[in-house]
Amino acid sequence: MINIRQLRFRYPTGTFRLRIEKLDIAQGEKVAVAGPSGSGKTTLLNLIAGIVLPDSGCITTGETRITDLDERARREFRVCRIGMVFQEFELLEYLNVLDNILLPYRISPALTLDQSVRERARKLAVDVGIEDKLRRLPRQLSQGERQRVAVCRAMLTRPRLLLADEPTGNLDMDNKDRVLDILEEQATAAGATLITVTHDRDLLHRFSRVIDFADLRETGA
Ligand code: ADP
Ligand code: MG
Repeated sequence: MINIRQLRFRYPTGTFRLRIEKLDIAQGEKVAVAGPSGSGKTTLLNLIAGIVLPDSGCITTGETRITDLDERARREFRVCRIGMVFQEFELLEYLNVLDNILLPYRISPALTLDQSVRERARKLAVDVGIEDKLRRLPRQLSQGERQRVAVCRAMLTRPRLLLADEPTGNLDMDNKDRVLDILEEQATAAGATLITVTHDRDLLHRFSRVIDFADLRETGA
């Protein structure tokens, strides 16, 4: 599903270097990428999502080589085909919960917002237990609730690839398990590949495959 080859990346400023010779992740796999803060986990997700481009090497998702696309095509691919739960959620503070969940359909000309999409958004909200908060603004929610809004938004387009960046950061243990349960259930129901990035080693036992970021940078996986 995801194939990375001979990837080299660095930011225009600073000394950080990322080098991954080879990484293959199969369709439907549920993978945790573990590594300390600052090791480049968010950078890797941003590369897979086409938010940033590598200096060299290629990244293929399904049939699409995202590293060959221009910025506009990468954005379209990301919004329509990838579900992303950002480390800081990226909720828009002036939109209510329902409109935050519907955001992909508001920003992509390729997606049509109709009644069935609204119903799906409501159903996702029910699944994660925030259906009574659809009219609230993000600032009127707890951290755990905001996180669940981000998960609903990521799932809305039924993406075959779900990327979750520290989705349990800042949550207590009960909420951590809850958010991971939701992500796993949703990924299973959609047959989606799930890549969760975390520095929380207590959570790793839940995943079928754990990639140690330090090993990945040395040898590939
Ligand atoms: P992680 O998610 O594992 O904590 P990141 O991928 O966020 O790590 O960051 C990896 C390294 O790249 C860090 O040293 C960080 O300071 C650096 N970095 C992140 N974003 C930028 C940027 N936009 N410009 C320069 N350096 C950056
Ligand atoms: Mg990070």
